[in-house]
Amino acid sequence: MEVIQAKTAGFCMGVSLALKKLDDELKKDGQQGRIVTLGSIIHNPQVIKNYARQGVIQASDINELLPGDRVLIRAHGIPRDKEERLRELGVTVIDATCPKVKRAQLGISEMYESGQTLLLFGEADHPEVRGLLSYAGPGSLVFGNLEEFSLLNLSPATTFFLAAQTTQDIEQYNRIIVYAEKKLGYKPVALNTVCSATRKRMQGALKLAEETDIMVVIGGYNSGNTRRLAEAVKAAGKRALHVETPEEIDPAVFRPGDKVGLTAGASTPKFLIDAVFTHLRKL
Ligand code: SF4
Repeated sequence: MEVIQAKTAGFCMGVSLALKKLDDELKKDGQQGRIVTLGSIIHNPQVIKNYARQGVIQASDINELLPGDRVLIRAHGIPRDKEERLRELGVTVIDATCPKVKRAQLGISEMYESGQTLLLFGEADHPEVRGLLSYAGPGSLVFGNLEEFSLLNLSPATTFFLAAQTTQDIEQYNRIIVYAEKKLGYKPVALNTVCSATRKRMQGALKLAEETDIMVVIGGYNSGNTRRLAEAVKAAGKRALHVETPEEIDPAVFRPGDKVGLTAGASTPKFLIDAVFTHLRKL
């Protein structure tokens, strides 16, 4: 089959940096202490399995840590109070929070300190969102789309500002910003927290979808930005298939003569992109 790969597919800067920190730790000879990630270091099950085979432990809670552990804070960051507790525990903290997530956390903190209340566009149960919320105070509100935002009951006595989870769709965020001015009756400060890596992958996927018959999107089912790539292609009226590995591809979904576009989320490793590409070429 003819397969065209998007120019921007796979690991973003933040994910590459986080995994480099983990790889550097694994390479250190004679170091004592377990290597532990707090939660999954990135949202890709195949990458996590590879690290588990090398002895990296994934802890779901700080209570699972032991003195002397080398603990990696993942690319999405963690809530502020958890980070403070970590630093008091006698473990070695390796902060692999993506610099762009860190910038969003600090921007939110600054706005909160100035007396404003956060309205956050994001997935309420996403680790990055929980981290971002911890940099603002009580009263912060999270919404997942424009409709949810329109239904929020906002006190006129409060001054709000907007921010978005780094992997949200910039177009949607811009529509929310425009609508927010009408809803609030003033122009709120809107922090520019959407990451260009997400935007580039989205634009690349939609452009490639126009030139092909079906898009295959590779990445963890738990990866929000990967899911959004597949959803955006479908919303543009094109066929899209979201898979984690080549084995999941059902050849029956393809029609004779289909030209296939290939893209991947920001936490999808090259070895999986290459494997899917090779597999599709052989179909
Ligand atoms: S998508 Fe952007 S903000 Fe998120 S980890 Fe990657 S580079 Fe950082």
